[in-house]
Amino acid sequence: MVTSDYLRDARVVVVGAGVVGAAVAYRLAQAGARVTVVERRHPGSGTSGASFAYVNGTDKPPRAYHRMSMLAIRDHEDLADELGADWIHVAGSLHWAPVDDRERAPALDRTMRQLLAWGARVDRLTPDEVTREAEPDLRIDPAAVEVVWRVDRAGWLEAVAMAHGTVSAAIRRYGAGIVRGDVRGLPREGDVITAVELADGRRLEADLVVNAAGPDAAAVAALAGVRLAVERTPGLMVVTAPAAVSLRHVAYAPGVNLRPDGGARLMVQRERLDSEVIDGEAIVLGDRRVDEAMDHARAVVPALADIPAEAVREGVRPMPRDGYPIVGFDPAVANLYHVVTHSGVTLAARLGLLVTEELTGGDTAPLEPYRPSRFPASAAG
Ligand SMILES: Cc1cc2nc3c(=O)[nH]c(=O)nc-3n(C[C@H](O)[C@H](O)[C@H](O)COP(=O)(O)OP(=O)(O)OC[C@H]3O[C@@H](n4cnc5c(N)ncnc54)[C@H](O)[C@@H]3O)c2cc1C
Repeated sequence: MVTSDYLRDARVVVVGAGVVGAAVAYRLAQAGARVTVVERRHPGSGTSGASFAYVNGTDKPPRAYHRMSMLAIRDHEDLADELGADWIHVAGSLHWAPVDDRERAPALDRTMRQLLAWGARVDRLTPDEVTREAEPDLRIDPAAVEVVWRVDRAGWLEAVAMAHGTVSAAIRRYGAGIVRGDVRGLPREGDVITAVELADGRRLEADLVVNAAGPDAAAVAALAGVRLAVERTPGLMVVTAPAAVSLRHVAYAPGVNLRPDGGARLMVQRERLDSEVIDGEAIVLGDRRVDEAMDHARAVVPALADIPAEAVREGVRPMPRDGYPIVGFDPAVANLYHVVTHSGVTLAARLGLLVTEELTGGDTAPLEPYRPSRFPASAAG
């Protein structure tokens, strides 16, 4: 990577210290930029801290997007190695459906065959093979399930640890700064943002503003007078109390997804419930939806029978209107660069590299499909 003069002298303000902002800030600071991260709470406190955090290229068509996601797994491992960290866990994922599920079983079959055709390692196991050796605490009914697919290159990320550790390394190693504050203004002169204004009246000079505000990215864009095609879609996760359960893989079971969450806890996701979650609503332990998620988890992991839910995590997905990342300069504001995506936990480490590559005059080809300009531009009303 070559440090361009532009980047060496540039004052870059990264808005948001989720996994995406953290990775971008670290790589830009490493490349020589004067980076300040502005975060209203603490690193990882946004969607990144309430994510299922499956790191994967499993159901990510088309092929270029799948490829970017697979490379992102390697980039996460590299970043963790570089920083001596252990927040990425790539032990594979398991996927199964009852043969009589006419919708999910064939869809799974298609996804796995596509993955194989794209060169991913996918093993076809029987339920017995899985429960005898790999994951003895899972219950998979061999009378109902014929095949358990095992995707080798997939795992999960301790996203708060990654966001914090990466920002912290940008500060220690490359002199970046972090400011706790709420960005409330991005005043412009013509098509250039002149400063980043915070709610408490502070003002940061900026040559380049990176919008990594996750589900609030459209609100940040609006401060500069532009619209960003990002929607907010809420989701619900349940964390169990510590349990005598060993689970290494991420498990996509019928009706529920499970993964380890550290400290002998499991993270439980029942995606079907997401449509019943209202943005901003506080869901507490004892809520019907929490109990429903736990019931489904217990059907797959019988050892959870007496284990209660310990915490609820509500996250809001930053969902670009077509589902794909939005990465690049705003078409109407010369020094506003957006990095906003669903599957951001997967893509963060890759995006940190690609964005820095672009801003140091390198190859931009991998980012071309994801430019903000693919959406009709319009000034914020
Ligand atoms: C239920 C659920 C499940 C998911 N599952 C997966 C999955 O399995 N795999 C996957 O890859 N992705 C998954 N995602 C998506 C993934 O979590 C997000 O894409 C990712 O966390 C986005 O990271 P980010 O850094 O862009 O945003 P965030 O983590 O939200 O970070 C943005 C930060 O900006 C800060 N901020 C916002 N506005 C301002 C402001 N005005 N001033 C100062 N600071 C501000 C916020 O405080 C926040 O910390 C899931 C999301 C949800 C909700």
